[in-house]
Formats: sequence, C-alpha cells, structure tokens
Amino acid sequence: MRVANVGGRLAVAAGDRWVDVATASAGRFSPDPQAVYDRWDEFVAWAGEGLGAEAFPATGGLGTPVPAPRQIVAIGLNYREHAIESNMAIPEHPVVFTKFQSSLAGPDAVVELPSDGVDWEVELVVVIGREAHKVPAEKGWDFVAGLTVGQDLSWRAVQGRGPAPQFAIGKSYPGFSPIGPVVVTPDELADKDDLAISCALDGEVLQDGRTSDLIFGVAELVGRLSESLTLYPGDVIFTGTPKGVGMGRTPKRFLVPGTLTSSIEGIGDLSVTLVNGF
Ligand code: ZN
Repeated sequence: MRVANVGGRLAVAAGDRWVDVATASAGRFSPDPQAVYDRWDEFVAWAGEGLGAEAFPATGGLGTPVPAPRQIVAIGLNYREHAIESNMAIPEHPVVFTKFQSSLAGPDAVVELPSDGVDWEVELVVVIGREAHKVPAEKGWDFVAGLTVGQDLSWRAVQGRGPAPQFAIGKSYPGFSPIGPVVVTPDELADKDDLAISCALDGEVLQDGRTSDLIFGVAELVGRLSESLTLYPGDVIFTGTPKGVGMGRTPKRFLVPGTLTSSIEGIGDLSVTLVNGF
C-alpha cells in the first residue's frame, strides 16, 4: 500500500489513482494524514477490503506525507563508509539526535539555503505504526507502518560549533527535513532490507548506495531505540546517510541552487528546489 498527503488530505493509491480516504470511508478515518498512524492496523484492514477509486478521487498536490510526528529521531554515522569519510569511529551504539518538527517539508518544497555551507544526506525514513517500548530487534519490523525518502539537510558549521556538536540545530532550519513523496508499506518491497538509495543535484549523482550497508538496520534501530524511548505511531526515524556527502570530499563541497532529487528503490523520488536565502 502507498499512502500520501494529497491536497492536504490522507490518500491511498489504487492503481494509478489516489483515493481520498475520509470520503471513501464515509468519515470513518480522518482526512488528517498524521492521524491515520494512531489507527494503523485498522486502516490497513479497511484499505484491504477494496477502494472506490472512481468515486472518491483525491485531488491536489503532494504534501508532507507525515506532517506532524510527535518525535523525529535521526541516526548519525549509520553507514560504514560514511563514518570513515566523516573521520569517525564505526559506532557500537546508534548515534541518536533529533530534527525539529518545524524543519519538515514535503515533495516539491522550495528550500532556502541559509548559507553556502549546507550539505546533502539522502536517508531512508521509517514511519512507526505501533507504540514501541522495549521491543526485541527481531520484532522491529512489526512496529513499522511504512518507509519514505528523506533528506537530512545539514549546515555543517552550525552542526559542529560549540564545545560539543549540536546536530539538532544545524539540521533543523526551515525545509531541512523534506520527506516523501509517499509512504510505502514494507510488504510492497521485494527486499525491504536492501534498497538502492541515491541523490543527485541537477542530475549529477552525489550519493549512490544500498540500505543493506546500514550498520544498524531498520529492525535493529527500532529495537535499540525502544530500549530507551517510547516510539509512538506516526513518529519518524531518519536512519542515516550513505557515503558521498560534501563535507567528506577534498575540497569540501556544498549545495548550490538547483533541484535536489533523492531516490529510494521501490519508494520513489523526492525532488526539492533549492534557492539562495542569504
Ligand atoms: Zn543524517
């Protein structure tokens, strides 16, 4: 199943059409794209009964598919080669930080670069479908509603300033957390633990990897995070970026205005427009 925010309302794909969920369900489910995760199992069961694609079309542009998660968890240094290019040790425990909700954006967002020092990080983003606390890693996937594509845009100088790194601030400027275009349930994917992941600026490929290279994969992340946290339905996890970021290059390289397209096999392309905001 593929779900999206179409025209600000929850929609589900039926073939090549979008169905407006609130209308098709006669009000049983809210049009709020965030609210569905609190009733995810019930929603999946309803959607499996068949949809009135012709009768209840959704119209409008694609918005942020998960617009108001209670928590946004992000993981650093979660691909071996990226840890090496960052001159950091391979982590024994997940490196955890947050991206603030105000930085979320959807597909087709226009993102103002606040400086000429903003880096790119394409990431697989997990959407939680069931409350999770002290979940064993081998059951981690059972708590995942779906997957989407994300960018963890990062102003490196801000991220690293101060006596200790402040990842959350340097990664939370407006538009610094675009996600989308859709949320795809894991059953749609041939191998949910091995997906091609890449990003390109105006067609020039910047990162090109596979999620099978994650140090802590999706199920293990749910397990490890839930040792401490309670993960709520509708929370999102940015799982980390593969190698190829700009700060790891010689000379360093950062984003310039253009179209930044992030892609994950079986999920889709998330394209945002970058403009100078300084
Ligand atoms: Zn990241």
